[in-house]
Amino acid sequence: MTATVETVVKPRAMEREHYKLLINGEQVDSASGETFDTYNPATNAHLATVAKAGEQDVDNAVAAARAAFDKWQRTSGSQRNRILMKVAELLRERTADLAHIETLNNGKAIQNVKAEIGQAIDDFEFFAGASTKITGITTALPGRHLGYTLREPVGVCAQIIPWNYPLMMAAWKLAPALACGNTIVLKPASNTPISALLLGEICLEAGVPAGVVNVVTGPGSTVGNYLAGHPGVDKIAFTGETTTGKQIMITAAATLKRISLELGGKSANVIFEDADIEGAANGAAFAIYYSAGQSCEARSRVLVHQSVYDQFVEAFLARVSKLKVGDPMDPTTNIGSLISQNQWDVVNGYVEKGQQEGAKLLTGGQRPEHMAAGNFYLPTALADVHNQMTVAQEEIFGPVLVIIPFKDEKEAIQLANDSIYGLAGSVWTKDVGRANRVAAAIRTGHVSINTPYTAFPGLPFGGYKQSGFGREMSMDAIELYTELKSVLVYTGEKPINPYGG
Ligand code: NAP
Ligand code: MG
Repeated sequence: MTATVETVVKPRAMEREHYKLLINGEQVDSASGETFDTYNPATNAHLATVAKAGEQDVDNAVAAARAAFDKWQRTSGSQRNRILMKVAELLRERTADLAHIETLNNGKAIQNVKAEIGQAIDDFEFFAGASTKITGITTALPGRHLGYTLREPVGVCAQIIPWNYPLMMAAWKLAPALACGNTIVLKPASNTPISALLLGEICLEAGVPAGVVNVVTGPGSTVGNYLAGHPGVDKIAFTGETTTGKQIMITAAATLKRISLELGGKSANVIFEDADIEGAANGAAFAIYYSAGQSCEARSRVLVHQSVYDQFVEAFLARVSKLKVGDPMDPTTNIGSLISQNQWDVVNGYVEKGQQEGAKLLTGGQRPEHMAAGNFYLPTALADVHNQMTVAQEEIFGPVLVIIPFKDEKEAIQLANDSIYGLAGSVWTKDVGRANRVAAAIRTGHVSINTPYTAFPGLPFGGYKQSGFGREMSMDAIELYTELKSVLVYTGEKPINPYGG
């Protein structure tokens, strides 16, 4: 079957029955004509079909990105600034439509989706500004030499993203790469392919030239793997599971591609005896149940001082009982559906395993009675957990909190750091010295003090240990998307003679 081609003039109505790849500024079916289905996780109803890319399509997308690179890298910072600001403006104008389709495709609560689109907008605005501030250094050197550095785009970037924040992750990836003058082949997760395709179209409408942003949809194990190993790709930016990240690192080694990896987490929420316990309980609920716990920075382990353990558990359960689990489209819903029945089984398996290992189920551990269809899971908490249990060590990626007591600051730090992961953490205390001491001692890329929130454009985000490396969301991301060139200039009147005389 031959591919059909339509030139994108303007994004049409956002909801479609069939979505195509975006290659070289055109919406195209896959070269093979194959498609796959995408669903609404809240009902498991069929939502749309999506073009299933194969190797030929990846070759085409990489060739388009390679061809577009030469011109795009030479655009001025102010030109890129205007285009990225326009992307932000279009996202703002279409927030309601985008939130609708993203909620249908992901199943999470629309209040979460709207917040994430808000952050995607902030991200484009942040990196719009950054595109005019990519500078180097100058330095006077011996023997009438002058040195200066240039930050140049890396080239063609493969960006591979997960399903938990589909549009926001696409924004985290595209905005800094574009700001630096790179071209891109973006591969969204197969569970949530739609919003990345729509964002690609919005980029085109905002003035990003054809070929600069290409979006290919299809299975990670084939298309993603082929893209990650493609000789025409200079850099891979990946967000997803730690095991996939390790595989990508191996694949990238063959051609020594630059890589940045944002991976899993098992972050601690450390609550000291002098904390505002009700505030900490509200924060702890948000920090685990946001996005139904399908969040890399979920603080999925509460470490609480033994003297306030019971008080914390009581306040926490009171908060959980007020959370609304239900229809993701209802703006008052706090917790929507998990992404799939498969994810539901994984989450439930961990809850069962935790109980087999001796944990006590405080709340949740099942499907809500009023949401029989879809993949809903009640907010769940396990007590009597110790840090060596599977549920305290492995990333569950669902609405499951484990609660672990500690006796003093030293033990709290030891437990927080007893993890292969190092993404985030929170500390709750009124003692400013202790707050900052513990923040410094926790081996993670991010620590929040007396707040459940984590990521804001402007503050670097990324992991220590097996949570990955590289920092997004800030001027530090410029380092991920540029090569640094040193230029040495001789300023003397007559060429230097290295042999003397
Ligand atoms: P995943 O299974 O690793 O998949 C992520 C992406 O990689 C998807 O697009 C997937 O495609 C693709 N992929 C899978 N195998 C591949 C391979 N061999 N080569 C190239 N690409 C491949 O992750 P997920 O289940 O979507 O997302 C959940 C994970 O993401 C969690 O571990 C979470 O902690 C992490 N996460 C981290 C951050 C952070 O900033 N640190 C943020 C969000 C999420 P398919 O969908 O087709 O399989
Ligand atoms: Mg996965």
